[in-house]
Amino acid sequence: MDDKLMLMIPGPTPVPEKALTAMGRHPIGHRSGEFSELVAEVFTDLKWLHQTQNDVLVLTASGTGAMEAGIINVLSSGDRVLVGSNGKFGDRWAKVAKAYHLDVQTITAEWGQPLDPEAFREALEADTNKEIKAVILTHSETSSGVLNDLETINRHVKAHGEALIIVDAVTSLGACTVPIDDWGLDVVGSGSQKGYMIPPGLGFISMSDRAWKAYERSNLPRFYFDLGPYRKNAAKNTTPFTPPVNLFFALQASLRMMRAEGLENIFARHDRLKRAAREAVKAMGLPLLGSDDCASPAVTAVAPTSVGAEQIRSVMKKQFDIALAGGQDHLKGKIFRIGHLGFVSDRDLLCAIGSLEATLQSLNAGNEPGAGITAASKILNAG
Ligand SMILES: *Cc1c(COP(=O)(O)O)cnc(C)c1O
Repeated sequence: MDDKLMLMIPGPTPVPEKALTAMGRHPIGHRSGEFSELVAEVFTDLKWLHQTQNDVLVLTASGTGAMEAGIINVLSSGDRVLVGSNGKFGDRWAKVAKAYHLDVQTITAEWGQPLDPEAFREALEADTNKEIKAVILTHSETSSGVLNDLETINRHVKAHGEALIIVDAVTSLGACTVPIDDWGLDVVGSGSQKGYMIPPGLGFISMSDRAWKAYERSNLPRFYFDLGPYRKNAAKNTTPFTPPVNLFFALQASLRMMRAEGLENIFARHDRLKRAAREAVKAMGLPLLGSDDCASPAVTAVAPTSVGAEQIRSVMKKQFDIALAGGQDHLKGKIFRIGHLGFVSDRDLLCAIGSLEATLQSLNAGNEPGAGITAASKILNAG
């Protein structure tokens, strides 16, 4: 049915009416007083969302651009970095680091498994000459639906004393707690089309004081993504280049909504949706890719065996106008992923679960319809 698409993918995520209508107006001058006022409010709210006093800088880029900026502003050619990789995005940060001629050492885990914090401890303890300048890792690995144990890995990085921690929080920020100041996270990147509930186009990067010290030493080439000018301009509530003004209108609206809901409530909602999705999938007789104790709050990966993942996605899209995400790289065709990130309510999830049951019935797969809804309702009703 026309104009009924329901996005249940881990980005772009659904956009609330308030953000959509905020965007639907003429742009204003980005050097105007009116825009500076808006920027001042947005910067304050971004610090609140990031649980930090650090500068949170806004780039015209997707999440990858924000992460690339984070990496190239604190490191120098030939620096050794330890990259955690258990999925598509971990792999990507190793590629970015190699593109800038960094000396990349990786710690890997199977897609669907979490990174082992002990492997980080061992690698960091073995580095007695303090050659590792940064540890780069993905908090919520969207490709497999796994939440890595950032808190423990970060403790090992802190014990090393020299290395910075650079975190891809693209699908954890605004979904579960990422206490930047409490944990002392140095560089944290994210993107607008995920937990922020607005369309793609903005990248966010938080930089600690230690990260800014490293910035002074760092010699990698950069111009548009040189964070120095962003910081200087942020102090004056402006940006170095023309920002996507209308996305800032949307961001102001979405951050106001987030403040009204409150961080604890936002995290509780994502946790509830995650548990409801997982229990429903199990009750339907479909295997999950990863285990419950390392499940991402943003996305649930399902690995059906009795029926093709792409067949399920196709029916869900054609018959119910619900977009689910497929698998990436070697998991293409093997899994599908249910996004429950950002502007997603209990009702949205029940709708997706019910439609998934109807889909399985039409494909003669899965358990008797109703089992998924029953399991999800139990979690949602318990709050
Ligand atoms: C979406 C996403 C990104 C950023 O991807 P872009 O397409 O550049 O926005 C990075 N990391 C994770 C974990 C993501 O889910």
